[in-house]
Amino acid sequence: MKHFLIFVLMFLAFCVAAQPDPLRQKAREIHRRLLTIDTHTDVPMVMSKPDFDINQKHAYNDANNSTVDFPRMREGGMDAMFFAIYLGQGPLSPEAHKEVKVKALSIYKAVHDALKKYPDIAELALTAADAARLNKAGKLAVYIGMENGYPIGDDVASLKQFYDLGCRYLTLCHSFNNLICDSSTDPKGALYGGLSPMGVRVIQELNRLGIVPDLSHVSDETVMDVLRVSTKPVIASHSNARALCDVPRNLPDSLIKAIAAKGGVVQVNFVSDFLKPPSPAFAAELREARARYFKATEANRESIRLEINAIEKKYAHERANITDLVRHIDYIAKLVGPDHVGIGSDFDGGGGVTGCEDVSQIENITFELLKMGYSEETLAKIWGGNILRVLRATESK
Ligand SMILES: [Zn+2]
Repeated sequence: MKHFLIFVLMFLAFCVAAQPDPLRQKAREIHRRLLTIDTHTDVPMVMSKPDFDINQKHAYNDANNSTVDFPRMREGGMDAMFFAIYLGQGPLSPEAHKEVKVKALSIYKAVHDALKKYPDIAELALTAADAARLNKAGKLAVYIGMENGYPIGDDVASLKQFYDLGCRYLTLCHSFNNLICDSSTDPKGALYGGLSPMGVRVIQELNRLGIVPDLSHVSDETVMDVLRVSTKPVIASHSNARALCDVPRNLPDSLIKAIAAKGGVVQVNFVSDFLKPPSPAFAAELREARARYFKATEANRESIRLEINAIEKKYAHERANITDLVRHIDYIAKLVGPDHVGIGSDFDGGGGVTGCEDVSQIENITFELLKMGYSEETLAKIWGGNILRVLRATESK
């Protein structure tokens, strides 16, 4: 009898577990209906490796720690992504500027070549309207953003060349100051107190061409300067709320409000130590290794990347999870309204949390937000509507 009772209880437990969670089911249906856009992945860095095929399925825990490819975009219901042409900051000399421009052009070529190779799978998106058009045609939309204005050197007119190659947002700088503006993380501190005089001309040219100024990575003063100069809305393509995680890379409430007041949008990233404050020991080790990474030559970067992976493993217990991630989205939505927040994962650039490790798992975000009471209409804004509004405003003359 006792055994029979245990059997019945186990059977009942099995039946409950086997029942599909109705909210999970609803999240899936809604997620599949949404037009989803992520404004920041560093996948072009991985694509530059000769053995990487974007149309092959990889795994986030493989040797490359790969988090984005076409098969997983499809699996996750990710319709469009901004592929970031990332250039590490180097010396501010004419020779270095020449060299980095050549490198930038080679990364653009790698993206264009991959799209040419798989014309039935994905296509370069150039306008706001392209996202829905390509989605309807059953193709993934690949937009291009450039992470760091370093490759333009002192030649503002060269922005037109990058626009013609598909660039639709420009992250003004990366981890160090450049000729355009101050960075939020340059250990030397401010060089201009915001935008340089050339930086002002860069914003005017971006407005004229139809490229969105991207304020991720720039200093607080640079954000204020850009908001003063730009005649069009701006974005932070991958930035979080400083009120929840106090690091210079994140945006304080005052700047989130100022970006929203201009019609812009803050796209939340999935980088653990920008979501949840790391312990001082973890922060110090990461900071030191990242500083070396950003200054290293290409040949030395791979070994430092492995070092960073090892540090992240050592502090795995501190890693952010999906609850930490949606908390930033919810915070910004409550601070300035859901019209001014979106998603910019930074997959392949350090993005990935427990519960959303790679692009195939993004439905979990929809599920979490739905659980918090977000409607389909609001989810549609967060997942793509808001960034499309900014793109449309940027395109208009
Ligand atoms: Zn970045």
